[in-house]
Amino acid sequence: MPDINTYKSIAEKLLEQKVCLVAVSKTKPQEDILVLYQEGQRVFGENRVQELVEKQAALPKDIQWHAIGHLQRNKIKYIAPFISLIHSVDSLRLLEEINKQAQKHDRIIDCLLQFHIATEESKFGLSIEEAQSLLKSDAYQSMQNVRICGVMGMASFVSDQVQIQQEFKTLKSYFDSLQTEFFSQEPAFKECSMGMSGDYELAIQEGSTMVRVGSLLFGHR
Ligand SMILES: *Cc1c(COP(=O)(O)O)cnc(C)c1O
Repeated sequence: MPDINTYKSIAEKLLEQKVCLVAVSKTKPQEDILVLYQEGQRVFGENRVQELVEKQAALPKDIQWHAIGHLQRNKIKYIAPFISLIHSVDSLRLLEEINKQAQKHDRIIDCLLQFHIATEESKFGLSIEEAQSLLKSDAYQSMQNVRICGVMGMASFVSDQVQIQQEFKTLKSYFDSLQTEFFSQEPAFKECSMGMSGDYELAIQEGSTMVRVGSLLFGHR
């Protein structure tokens, strides 16, 4: 069960700092989500499509669902009707599919570009060069049903705070340079999604606008 006092103190602090709290509810039951919903939380993050679809169908319709995990193109169609933000866009082909499915539902889907900032091999994400070439492509420029609102990244799973801090600085520098180069006329490009249970305070210090916090709110998975 989520600890309400922990939730309240984190939510209050983030509100003061104007940082969006994404409550990461993956693997947790619907009752746990409702506990935080009753405290006022409306933004929840999930990383599996099937779980996302089931929870969206069952839970209150004013919840804003964020997709935070790696997405397979053939599953986009299931979340396209309702997803509020996709944090994990890591290829042009994925973005093309999101655009296509969004079009079918006559929506514009907000997305973040996911960057590889960690040292671990297994993490998904773009390099800055790949992101620049995506944004310069004709395919991207002709898309009408996606809106890129910023960047996302996950730091390495290490205890070295200096290394984690450096990775957040890297992501923030990518955000700044893409904003200057491609989005200077687009106020919607404003999100830097970085920071999880163990490192969200450090992430905020380095310019995060959106933190994805799971185990600290809901308990260990
Ligand atoms: C699970 C997950 C989180 C939350 O992790 P915690 O350490 O439980 O806060 C954040 N971001 C992504 C992409 C995740 O998959």
